[in-house]
Amino acid sequence: MRFPFFRPAPAVAPAAPGTHGSPVPPVDDGVLLETVGLTKAYAGADGELPVLSGIDLTVRSGEIVALLGRSGSGKSTLLRCLAGLLPPSSGTVRYRGTPLAGANPGTALVFQTFALLPWLTVRQNVELGLEARGVPPRERARAADQAIDLIGLAGFESAYPKELSGGMRQRVGFARALVVEPDVLMMDEPFSALDVLTAENLRGELMELWDSGQFPTRAVVLVTHNIEEAVLMADRIVVLGSRPYGTIRETVEVGLDRPRDRDCAAFDELVDRVYRIMTGRPKETRPPERPDPGRPDRRTLATTPLPTVSVDGLSGLAEMIAHRHGCCDLADLADGLGLDMDDVLPQVDALDLLGFAEIHGDDLLLTEDGTAFAHADVQDSRALFAAAAVEVPLVKLIANSLRGEPGATVRAGFFRDLLAHHYTSEQVDRQLETATDWGRYAGLFGYDADRQEYRLEEA
Ligand code: ADP
Ligand code: MG
Repeated sequence: MRFPFFRPAPAVAPAAPGTHGSPVPPVDDGVLLETVGLTKAYAGADGELPVLSGIDLTVRSGEIVALLGRSGSGKSTLLRCLAGLLPPSSGTVRYRGTPLAGANPGTALVFQTFALLPWLTVRQNVELGLEARGVPPRERARAADQAIDLIGLAGFESAYPKELSGGMRQRVGFARALVVEPDVLMMDEPFSALDVLTAENLRGELMELWDSGQFPTRAVVLVTHNIEEAVLMADRIVVLGSRPYGTIRETVEVGLDRPRDRDCAAFDELVDRVYRIMTGRPKETRPPERPDPGRPDRRTLATTPLPTVSVDGLSGLAEMIAHRHGCCDLADLADGLGLDMDDVLPQVDALDLLGFAEIHGDDLLLTEDGTAFAHADVQDSRALFAAAAVEVPLVKLIANSLRGEPGATVRAGFFRDLLAHHYTSEQVDRQLETATDWGRYAGLFGYDADRQEYRLEEA
């Protein structure tokens, strides 16, 4: 169920991933992508509008490069030039030493807006890239399922995009790019359409995959305007300035050990340094943390409504608390994220309901299970989540009702009627959506949206 190990790659590769067997030029010094004197101008009303100028950039095998800059600094334009989707006005872009003539065969893109086809299932969306490359159907399905599993979407293969939370949709975006095993994965602000907690979770999981060598690409180019994200993820940060037009202002080697600890002084120093490069001003300090021990108060029955929270969202919150040593003041946390308390309360309720966190006064504390969940890799996190979710009343009811004969199905209407005694129809719908999301992630049951039926997972 694993992708082959592609990183760190040898300097001279006989065949690269992403090409499904076709030969590719060898790579000197591990250089995969290179721009020399790249300039790009768009045609405007008053003639040519320069956007990028004199860009010399190298992307090597084994590294994550962040293109960091404010909105309008030309990040997306540079990424599209690297991907061969836009021709430079002057200068060259080379892939494995060969100047590009059209789309770069060694890259795949993940967009901010997931760009999924709504009428296709998760599996079909993921297969799209392979279809375009002429991969035969059986191989396509196998590769798609591997990518889906790798990115934590197992159980959602037959779901449609509209059934998925934003975080899950972006996972599909990642699976679709990774399934072609590109030499270089290119991401254009892939987390910025997600809520803070979901983004944090997805980032963490991707970095775990990268660190463990399971990432089926040799290098990553990440476009971002988020300094912390760049420092968290990148080996090298290329800071683009936009006056008078996009140039490389400075390149910063990150050099922090992985997995990275946001709370260490070196992390803060780098964030400050990059912040000063971008703005010329020092960054204000973050809110302080304070620890506190305690005990839970578990709720039990169907009178316990399921909060409308995606697994990504609650995982993201768990990770944030873990970064703050397992304990944080709720108001400070919300404040630090630029959110209202109301925005994080459903996630807080969900963690409490799952036994992953406890609330003591103003403080939110991760439990032992919650700490394990926050630190787990994709596969372990599913198992830990399953153990906790199956104790949550609605999830338990659905799981139990399917127990018994193999292949059993139960119509959603059954649960809808039961819930209707206690909740409005809108609340019922939302709770069932959440239960479906949780149950699927946990691998406890599947849901067929066309037939409106729950069924047991085969494996
Ligand atoms: P970023 O991704 O850093 O926000 P972009 O690369 O999207 O920056 O845009 C850089 C500049 O180029 C902006 O001023 C934008 O308005 C301009 N621009 C982007 N795409 C086009 C286009 N197709 N035609 C004309 N101008 C464009
Ligand atoms: Mg952009």
